[in-house]
Amino acid sequence: MSQDSQKKMYNRSFIIVGPIVHSKEITRLTVFDLGLIAVSDGKIVAVEETANVAQIQEKYSITDDFVYHLGDGEFVMPGFIDTHIHASQYPNAGLGYDMQLLDWLTTYTFPLEMKYSDLSFAEKVYEAVVKNTLANGTTTAMYFATIHFNSTVLLANIAADQNMNWNTPDGYGERTEDSYKLTEDFIIQLKDKKNDLILPIITPRFALSCDMELMKMLGELASRYDLHIQTHISENVHEVSAVKESFHDCTSYADVYDKARLLTNKTVLAHGVHLSDDELKVLAARGTAISHCPNSNTSLKSGLCDVRRLLNAGIKVGLGTDVSGGYSLSILNTIRNTLDVSIHVSFGKGEDYAPLTYHEAFYLATLGGARAVALGDKIGNFEVGKDFDALIVNMKSPGSTDILQKYDTDALVQKFLYTGDDRNITKVYVAGRQVK
Ligand SMILES: [Zn+2]
Repeated sequence: MSQDSQKKMYNRSFIIVGPIVHSKEITRLTVFDLGLIAVSDGKIVAVEETANVAQIQEKYSITDDFVYHLGDGEFVMPGFIDTHIHASQYPNAGLGYDMQLLDWLTTYTFPLEMKYSDLSFAEKVYEAVVKNTLANGTTTAMYFATIHFNSTVLLANIAADQNMNWNTPDGYGERTEDSYKLTEDFIIQLKDKKNDLILPIITPRFALSCDMELMKMLGELASRYDLHIQTHISENVHEVSAVKESFHDCTSYADVYDKARLLTNKTVLAHGVHLSDDELKVLAARGTAISHCPNSNTSLKSGLCDVRRLLNAGIKVGLGTDVSGGYSLSILNTIRNTLDVSIHVSFGKGEDYAPLTYHEAFYLATLGGARAVALGDKIGNFEVGKDFDALIVNMKSPGSTDILQKYDTDALVQKFLYTGDDRNITKVYVAGRQVK
């Protein structure tokens, strides 16, 4: 599309005509080779398998100037959802993978996160993170920030807060009452913004950095304000042992959070690599989701997470980059890691074990992620009434992967997932507004 038509995309109502790809279920993609999507005031108002453009134009009073036809090699798909990313750790992406989780945290991560009392440093990093996640096609991100109030408010365009009061290095911890008060102030400040795109989230870092008293207070806060919750679980075997030693009256890692009433259907737990069958039952019963972070699990040598096992247990699963445990903030990269790890897991299983397919990985990166973060009724695929969060993918973008013969739409999607990059993501929409 030309520069001129790009500007027009800010119009409140428009129609996109061409190949449409999204998930309605995990097992297979839904592909319309020549369909249409109509958008009005940021919401999807029509999705048609056959492009009956004139009828939709008339119904929504959309002139020809606002009907956009995708070209050869292009398709439209939902935006990616990153269910776990530490915005504050972005400067460390690609560094420090000579250690495992607990040493990595104290050696590399906490010293970096302490710098966020400096607002100009925070601003530089957070602007870069938001810009690059959007450029890589992530339209919804569940961000971790740091304990610093003002710098976290800076990130509030995507909203994050993190609480930490225990087992913290000198100068990087909070007293319980301060943590509670700052968290509530943050919630009120974000709610006052009345912006549907920004949600505060209760964030105990993990069981080893919050005591039971603070976790229970945060569980109560989440319940009172009906908030999302995010934290980590069962990432590394040494972490799991340390949690068992620290919480003698709890039967498991999941039980620690359950006792604090932190496991809800709006909770996302990162990793879940080493969960027992009993813990899976608890998570499934609570409707709690797992953010699968394969890039991080490999880089920090945490283990191979068996996503098929989680899905079979009825657990909601989304994908997370877990920057900077993971080195890439691209969900495309996470999709590849997900497929690789699933194959690696399958090597230890019988013939009946089915590794994840690219259709399933596409679902996990879009609708699966939306359901994991309890926003499945608002985003994740193309249904009437949902926000138009979308990517225009052009597999013929200059300088990107070569397309040397004719492919059907499903094959183009497959090539994008395996060989594409941000150069192929030519346009990004959040709630109908073009942001790339
Ligand atoms: Zn994490």
